[in-house]
Amino acid sequence: MYLVLLGPPGAGKGTQAERLEEELELPHVASGDLFRENLKNETELGLLAKKYMDRGNLVPDDVTIAMVRDRLQRPDCDQGAILDGFPRNQAQAQGMDRMLTDMGRRLDGVLYIAVPDEELVRRLSGRWICRQCQTPYHTVFSPPAKGGVCDACGGALYQRDDDKPETVRARLEVYHQQTSPLIDYYRQAGLLVEVDGVGDIETVSAALLEAARKLAK
Ligand code: ADP
Ligand code: AMP
Repeated sequence: MYLVLLGPPGAGKGTQAERLEEELELPHVASGDLFRENLKNETELGLLAKKYMDRGNLVPDDVTIAMVRDRLQRPDCDQGAILDGFPRNQAQAQGMDRMLTDMGRRLDGVLYIAVPDEELVRRLSGRWICRQCQTPYHTVFSPPAKGGVCDACGGALYQRDDDKPETVRARLEVYHQQTSPLIDYYRQAGLLVEVDGVGDIETVSAALLEAARKLAK
């Protein structure tokens, strides 16, 4: 099953993908994590992506699509994947269709996590991420058991540079202009399921899992 988690920055895609990954036994493929991994390893792609990420802009489609294609062709994605942060515009949606068709697969559904902007700003300003396994935490809404340390792997937590208020504003603008049109696009394709992303993490998880299980039938 190939699922897309669609939603604005801070909607809870990463948080929820980790839970779905476990429940559905499908790998979590997050384009932002792939870029950050490249950045950490100082690859050419990472250095290119940084220029865009620092400003909250989208990395060009050709390199983004090629990076995700490469990831989906790895054997652990044979049975499907949970895509998070990709596609982010029309060209990427078409690129994804092409890659799945080439692999003899298709997209099963798009879970749209709806959260209003004011809540997103609150979430992103308190977000901490594990440097090793990328698990997201929040100082108030989802704190780690021990300050600064990842519950899942013991890695050190850090705040993303692009979670600064001015970059968050730019990212939300990019989302509304370029990514949110995909909501209607997938609704018209009959693939969209909308889930209310406001509420505690467990409640949102339960709604997403129920939607994913229905799509799997
Ligand atoms: P995304 O991957 O969509 O950018 P994250 O999963 O990283 O979003 O979540 C953004 C921040 O909000 C994190 O700090 C996370 O702990 C927190 N968060 C996620 N879901 C909820 C929720 N339902 N209620 C409150 N905070 C949440
Ligand atoms: P995220 O981790 O999803 O919040 O993404 C962080 C940043 O990585 C974004 O602000 C973009 O600069 C870049 N990025 C992630 N996914 C994509 C994508 N699908 N297309 C273009 N840029 C992306």
